[in-house]
Amino acid sequence: MQKKVASLILEKQRSTMAIALSIAQNEALVKNILDNNISQDYYKELILNIKQNTHYNNLWIQVLDKDLNSVYRSWTGARDSGHKEARKDLHEVLKAKKPLNSISSGLYTLSLKAMVPLYKNNEAVGIVEVISHFNSISKELQNFGINSVVVLKKEQSDELLEPFTNMFVGDHYIANFNASEVLLQYLKKNGVQNYFTQGYKLHENHLITTYKLQDIKDKTIAYFIMFKDVQSVSHSNINFFMFKVFAISVLALLFAATVIMGVISFKNRRDKKHYKNIIDSSSNIVVVTTREVLIQVNRAFFKYFKEYKTLEEFQEKHASIADLFAAEQGYIYKSVDGLSWIDYLIQNPNENKVKIVYGEREYYFRVSVSLMCNDVERYSVIFSDITKEELYKKELEQTNITDALTKIKNRYYYNIQIKRECANANRYFYPLSLVIFDVDYFKKVNDVYGHDVGDRVLVEYATLISEHLRESDVFCRIGGEEFALILPHTTKAGAYKIADKLRIIVQEHKEVLPITMSFGVVEYKKGEDLDFLFKRADEALYEAKHSGRNRVVVR
Ligand code: GH3
Ligand code: MG
Ligand code: MG
Repeated sequence: MQKKVASLILEKQRSTMAIALSIAQNEALVKNILDNNISQDYYKELILNIKQNTHYNNLWIQVLDKDLNSVYRSWTGARDSGHKEARKDLHEVLKAKKPLNSISSGLYTLSLKAMVPLYKNNEAVGIVEVISHFNSISKELQNFGINSVVVLKKEQSDELLEPFTNMFVGDHYIANFNASEVLLQYLKKNGVQNYFTQGYKLHENHLITTYKLQDIKDKTIAYFIMFKDVQSVSHSNINFFMFKVFAISVLALLFAATVIMGVISFKNRRDKKHYKNIIDSSSNIVVVTTREVLIQVNRAFFKYFKEYKTLEEFQEKHASIADLFAAEQGYIYKSVDGLSWIDYLIQNPNENKVKIVYGEREYYFRVSVSLMCNDVERYSVIFSDITKEELYKKELEQTNITDALTKIKNRYYYNIQIKRECANANRYFYPLSLVIFDVDYFKKVNDVYGHDVGDRVLVEYATLISEHLRESDVFCRIGGEEFALILPHTTKAGAYKIADKLRIIVQEHKEVLPITMSFGVVEYKKGEDLDFLFKRADEALYEAKHSGRNRVVVR
């Protein structure tokens, strides 16, 4: 349809141009213009002649002088000097000094124009213009089963003072007389502007397309809207059309997909940045890791591990963050009960504390792990710093189990520890001994030197004894000047040796005041009641006291 209308327009332009050229050949015309002597009757006859010898019934002719004043018009008798400005195409002809075709609208209608300049001695003296309408083209199209409506743009329509066809759809002038009323109603109903776009539409059994009509400056001023009944369109055409629609849809989809992907990837990038900002703003360490290898860390990570600028630098020194976990009671280590720390944390979310010892520094964190993605091994792990709380707790715990005066462990701690140590000894079948000892005649120390000196004596000798113990030995002040020593992995023979060594150390120390101590030693019997164990040790001590003091009694 597009090609058809384009070729019909071209055909019409050529034939109107032929007529214009033939009129311009008339030398008398130039003379008449120059003499300002245009005989209306002469031209009327000329037009009649042309109409009779061509197919054109609606052919208008205008002759203009060099100032573009209309000196003859076939449709009105009147001469006219107006609207020179509106007719840019006429100016264009004088400028180009050659015949031109144009499509334009003016006071009356939209029309096709063939304009031929007239020259005498290389001077422009005027223009012959032959004007034709779209009716003939529209009519010709009907022979191909195409109905058409020629719609003038609204701006142009507004300039029509005497609309030739007097047909409108809304504010749009219709330039072809033969436009069917049904189509005009259809355009009115569906919004005529919706049909100003080129391309093909299939609607209500019509294949519809629009051909743009452009003025001499290639500005679209009107639309040739064509309708063809689908039934009359050959199948191959329909198939091709459908294929084109399909192909265009696919292309449109691909384009849309590309745009969407672009937007998404932009959004993703923006989101990623956004999330990274959020994660970076966290004071917690946030890492993405496999069970072994760190993949990503946030800014907070480098606040703790200051000596590294990048994750790569960190990885050169440490394979996994878990390598820094301290193996300590109550904290998660690199592997727990045969599970990797990550798996253990996922299975035991409440046992979630780690201690990180790093150089001189010690940190405590509460850790939460979540699997990021099922397909790949990726966990996000958040380390919340609980160092302050943990240290405070430890301090509290320490106060709870420490004797305020001597700074060795207190009776409370003894009670906890004797239970734990005996349980272990039971479980792992190792010997354990208990030593209870007491300062001899301490009452006298207080009485003679005062309570303060008594205190200093206690501190002095408790410290002295601590310095001579193994790390696994548990040394507690269980009463005023009474002490207990739990000796894991020690038989009563071994315990005797230790006790006697201590007895001698005390006896020989003689700082603050020379004192002696008496010791009762017992070995734990598997399954023995703890009170009974203590009682036996106390009896041994009692025996040591009553058998002369400054001695060790084993029971
Ligand atoms: P023994 O050889 O039989 O143990 O004689 P002792 O004088 O040491 O007798 P006992 O164990 O009965 O006396 C304990 C005394 O220790 C009683 C108390 O005045 C003193 N004492 C208990 N706690 C403290 C303390 O914290 N500081 C001081 N300076 N004296 C204490
Ligand atoms: Mg005493
Ligand atoms: Mg005592």
